[in-house]
Amino acid sequence: MIGAATRLLALLGNPVGHSLSPRIQNAAIESMGLDGAYLALRCEASDVAGLLRGIARAGGGGNVTLPHKEEAARTVDHPTDVVRLTGACNTFWSDGGRICGDNTDVQGFRGAVETLLGEPASGRKVLLLGAGGAARAALIGLLEDEVDEVVVWNRTLAKAEMLVEALGAGRARTAASLESVTEVPFELVVNSTSLGLADADPLPIELEVLREPAPVLDLVYRPTETRLVRRARELGMPAADGGEMLVRQGAEAFQRWWDRAPPLPVMRDALEEVRRDATPEPLHEE
Ligand code: NAP
Repeated sequence: MIGAATRLLALLGNPVGHSLSPRIQNAAIESMGLDGAYLALRCEASDVAGLLRGIARAGGGGNVTLPHKEEAARTVDHPTDVVRLTGACNTFWSDGGRICGDNTDVQGFRGAVETLLGEPASGRKVLLLGAGGAARAALIGLLEDEVDEVVVWNRTLAKAEMLVEALGAGRARTAASLESVTEVPFELVVNSTSLGLADADPLPIELEVLREPAPVLDLVYRPTETRLVRRARELGMPAADGGEMLVRQGAEAFQRWWDRAPPLPVMRDALEEVRRDATPEPLHEE
């Protein structure tokens, strides 16, 4: 029950109404018998610093989502190396009065890859679609896992070039078009574009162009299966959407706030419960 000692954990973003994190985090808090409450607060960029610092200094913490991750990275006193590298902070808390910030998307991504493949992506050739914030986290995660090579394709080529230049560490290159990568036998395909969120979105890639079938990780999540995941499964390719990454990044954040091992099965069940509750809406065919 909420009382005078209850810790406030808050998600700062805009919009936040669609977020599944409150359901996942509150289920975890409840299952561990902790005194906390996780709320979603829609806020303007100009309010991020005040809210973040105030909540943390009052003993709480939280997450930050689009479009405020960069603002949060500038606000925290003690950013982790991953926050410095990505320029984005999605988790904050206070340690002895200092506001700490981390980006748990990287570990969340690595965990999701491992769940899909049954092992880390080490040694694999990877096709990464997109060059935004999620792609930055994915590229760092893939390089930490010591993949063989990452080929980055993005609608705006210049952004892919900037990403590879900044973070590629000599093991990533860009592709100007998806047609130009058909010769590479990819062993993992990651969609980090936002295509797939809306019903009417086209697929980010026609999977038939790949030289060989490959596991597909779509970072997009929605209550029902994404169209890319459905297409991959139709073609016999192992596939997963962004649900596991969402749970894993939340589990990493839980660990930072509570200094305890996160109850992963409870968090996964909470996500599945939201999915079951959602009215299945058939994806329209193109
Ligand atoms: P972002 O920084 O805004 O980047 C969006 C990316 O999508 C860019 O590469 C953009 O290409 C591309 N894109 C947008 N519209 C497109 C279109 N019509 N055709 C082709 N490409 C298009 O967003 P983000 O933070 O990277 O997030 C991307 C997706 O990952 C979102 O769906 C988000 O929900 C998801 N995500 C999931 C998790 C998780 O835990 N599962 C975590 C983070 C993000 P341009 O550069 O050409 O604009």
